Amino acid sequence: MAEVWRYFAHEDDYPDLDEAALAGRLAAALAVPTVDGPTREGTDWVAFDALEALFRAQYPYVFAAGTVERVDHSLLITLAGSDMSLDPMLLMGHMDVVPVVPGTEADWTHGAFSGFVDDEYIWGRGALDMTDQVVGDLEAVEYLLAHGARLRRTLVLALGQDEETLQSGARAMGRVLAERGVHLAFLVDEGDYEVADLAPYGAPGVCGMRVAVAEKGYADVVLTVRSAGGHSSNPFGGTSLGILAEAIARLARDEWPVELTEPVRQTMTAVAPFVSVEPLRTLLKPEPDQTWRDAVDAHADGVARALAARRETYPLVTTTVAPTMIRGGSAQANVMPQDMTAVVNYRMLPGVTCEDVLARARGLLADLPVEVSLRTEVSNSPSAVSRTDGWGFSVVERVAGRYFRDPGTGQALPLVPGIVVGASDAQMYDGVCDACLRFSAFVADADEVARGVHGTNERITRRAYAQGVRFTIRLLEECLL
Ligand SMILES: [Zn+2]
Repeated sequence: MAEVWRYFAHEDDYPDLDEAALAGRLAAALAVPTVDGPTREGTDWVAFDALEALFRAQYPYVFAAGTVERVDHSLLITLAGSDMSLDPMLLMGHMDVVPVVPGTEADWTHGAFSGFVDDEYIWGRGALDMTDQVVGDLEAVEYLLAHGARLRRTLVLALGQDEETLQSGARAMGRVLAERGVHLAFLVDEGDYEVADLAPYGAPGVCGMRVAVAEKGYADVVLTVRSAGGHSSNPFGGTSLGILAEAIARLARDEWPVELTEPVRQTMTAVAPFVSVEPLRTLLKPEPDQTWRDAVDAHADGVARALAARRETYPLVTTTVAPTMIRGGSAQANVMPQDMTAVVNYRMLPGVTCEDVLARARGLLADLPVEVSLRTEVSNSPSAVSRTDGWGFSVVERVAGRYFRDPGTGQALPLVPGIVVGASDAQMYDGVCDACLRFSAFVADADEVARGVHGTNERITRRAYAQGVRFTIRLLEECLL
């Protein structure tokens, strides 16, 4: 039984929202299999056309009022406001979904693309990541326009095509906006879809909602060792496998600094008042004339070390190194392997670029006959760190605080800024926006998120979906009217 509704408040706002109709329209979108293949050519773009056609049918006000541009297979929709002196606000998301893991199709209670709705849930791939938020954003805009709203501030909707793979759609849309000289007030992209227990940060039993203001970098370093192979009875100079193993081991053993970067300082500042677990409790206790932030800064190294000691928070405080792929081993024990490659995946903290990673790997392996290169098409340096002291963050905080509250105290759930380990499309707008907020008001219980996102039986409750729509309507009212 889903429990996340315990954190909901003001579900009586917008009483003419029809939960069943909302669920039906989301289900219709979930039935369109916008799965992105690993490559452009492997993607069925016809499904994206079908999704756009469905959007046009379901959200006539949005498509009548908006200027709709197709950027590749992505959709950039601009709803012009009357006051051009106001920077536009942008809601973004991705229309693509990941495939169902082959062999697990039968594990789904209802088919991943069946668009099934029951009394409690809306089922399907994308129900959390993130067709729900994309369609929910459209619902919110449609609701406002259908009620005669006139926008003062311009709203941009940027719906990407390949967030799960190449991120080319968002990259292209970000470039289009930059070329036009647009500067956004702020943007909202997907967050982590849940009300989070703050236990990993030392505050067990306290709940909050995370807003990622930065993304770690991503780099795939490719190691190649060339060899003609031959009979294994004379491995003079070593085999390609042996050399590659040595290279992998060196990179994996290489320790990057443990440090508290700005977004994680913000996390710990937000969480500090609630921390009850040692050693963090003592470290984060301010002196009489200090703020919480002062305490975080004063004990940054100790806090970073404490976070590094826990599995959940370890990747937040260091650049991680994970050897993931190896190819080319011999099929036979008495035959030496020929050319071999391996991939080592890095996730970089702010301040560490792809070039830094490549240079460091080359330095460590300089004495080995290994070619070291970067898969540039998938590698991204860390995003910029967005500001949390501006209007965008505070309005999201205020509206989230209206709809998501602690059932025990009645207090608004704290909004906890931080960094995400995975890459998303939001950083493609760094050039036009200094407040890229990755936040989901479309939430589920933690176990639902863990199982459903990229897994089996992805689903969202009708109630949670409707609450996300309420949040978005309210956010748009506060920002646009
Ligand atoms: Zn996503």
